[in-house]
Amino acid sequence: MAAARELGAGVWALRLPLAYPVVKSVNAYLLEAEGGHVLVDCGSSLGDGWDHLVDALAAAGAAPEDLAVLLCTHSHADHCGLAAEVVERTGCRLVMGAGPHPVIDVLRDPTIPFADRRALHRRHGTPEAEIAELASDINEDGLHPRAEPELAPASLTTGSGAWQLLPAPGHSADQVMLWHPERRWLIGADLAIKDARPFVEHGTSADPHADYLASLDRALALEPELLLAGHGRPITTPAEVLARARASVRDGAERMGAALDARPRTGYELGALLCPPDASRPSRQRAFAEALSALEHLKARGLARSCLDGDGVLRWLAFS
Ligand SMILES: [Zn+2]
Repeated sequence: MAAARELGAGVWALRLPLAYPVVKSVNAYLLEAEGGHVLVDCGSSLGDGWDHLVDALAAAGAAPEDLAVLLCTHSHADHCGLAAEVVERTGCRLVMGAGPHPVIDVLRDPTIPFADRRALHRRHGTPEAEIAELASDINEDGLHPRAEPELAPASLTTGSGAWQLLPAPGHSADQVMLWHPERRWLIGADLAIKDARPFVEHGTSADPHADYLASLDRALALEPELLLAGHGRPITTPAEVLARARASVRDGAERMGAALDARPRTGYELGALLCPPDASRPSRQRAFAEALSALEHLKARGLARSCLDGDGVLRWLAFS
């Protein structure tokens, strides 16, 4: 059920149910402002997305027509799939971080033609029998209409004060976080979520692994007292959760680095090392994207090499 909770004067957390099989809800945040509120994220367009948003706003004492700005923290469909509808129904401005605006990693982005995703999977060594599954997102979200966003400003003034917008790429190429210096509150989007391994979005920027670490360092340096994440409850131990996320991202590259040897192996084979063989499809897809991001990061730093064999398959090796 949609719900709202006031975290402090003029700042509301909205819980929006998702019509997904695994992730059951996403958080949006309502920042009250004179002359029109700021909504941070709006949820998915799948199922009853719009009704859930209206219900959550009502629980916070607001209505869609009270919105002046929709800020989407990143372009993943669970956070911004409903954006075009919100803009159309309310006439509010849509602001986002600098593009590109990917729905998810390139291995399973439904907006990329399936033939292109299949070719990419073949290049990375996915067995034919698994391509259809791994090239499709389990949530079947992302084919929603798009609205053209404006580039997010450096800060947004609201009734609760000015929130600074800071880049936080890695989980998504366009992710931004919001920082309230006086309260020391950080709306961190999906930068770090309690008890969830960070998702590194492969293929949408040059080095998402490095981007992710830099974003976590930026967040840690702020020394937030409260972390408002894209999923789950407010986090009162931000340093711990951010540090754990950082260790996890680093762990991906360390395990890839340690696994490489003189045997040429595909990204698919190496990605399988980051999750148990019987893991769920979403877990295997996350591990695959994380492994490829880590391998490309290691290569960029001269710590791994790859070769494209005559079969068109890319394989990874250690420098001997
Ligand atoms: Zn996300």
